[in-house]
Amino acid sequence: MKTLWAPWRMAYILGQEVRKDGCIFDFPDDLHLDKEALLLFKDRQTEVLLNRFPYANGHLLVAPVRHAAELEELPPVDSAALMTTLQVAIGILRKHLKPDGFNVGLNLGAIAGAGQAEHLHFHVVPRWQGDHNFMTVTADIRTIPQHINATFE
Ligand SMILES: [Zn+2]
Repeated sequence: MKTLWAPWRMAYILGQEVRKDGCIFDFPDDLHLDKEALLLFKDRQTEVLLNRFPYANGHLLVAPVRHAAELEELPPVDSAALMTTLQVAIGILRKHLKPDGFNVGLNLGAIAGAGQAEHLHFHVVPRWQGDHNFMTVTADIRTIPQHINATFE
C-alpha cells in the first residue's frame, strides 16, 4: 500500500478553511500577486488563481476582475481580455507542467456546479496520461502529486 499525502485537504474536511466575507475573486486594485489567496496574476480586467482544492496539479481559476455571474454581463473588451488571459495561462502551464491535455470549463450557476456562482470563472485543469487512477472512481479521492505551495512557486 502506498501513502497519499494531501495535507491541505484536512482544513477543508474539518471545515477550518478560512472563509473571508465576500467574494473570493474580489481583490484590492493594487494587489497583483498574493500567496495566501493563491492569486498568481491580476491586471485591470482579469485574474488567475490556483484552485485551493485542485482536481489536478496546476488547476487554475481564470476570472474577470469585474464581479459578474453571467457571461453576457461582460462587456466585449473584458471577454476578449479573459480569452487572452486563458491563452497565456494555458501556454504557461503547457511550458512548465508539460501536460498531455487540458480540461477548460465554465460552470454557470450553482445548479451547474459553480461553487462561487456569483463571480464567473473558468477552470483550467491540466491532464496527463494516467493522472486519475481508480482512486477517483472507487474511493472518491483524487491524488495530487505536488503540494499546492510548490505549484504556486
Ligand atoms: Zn466577485
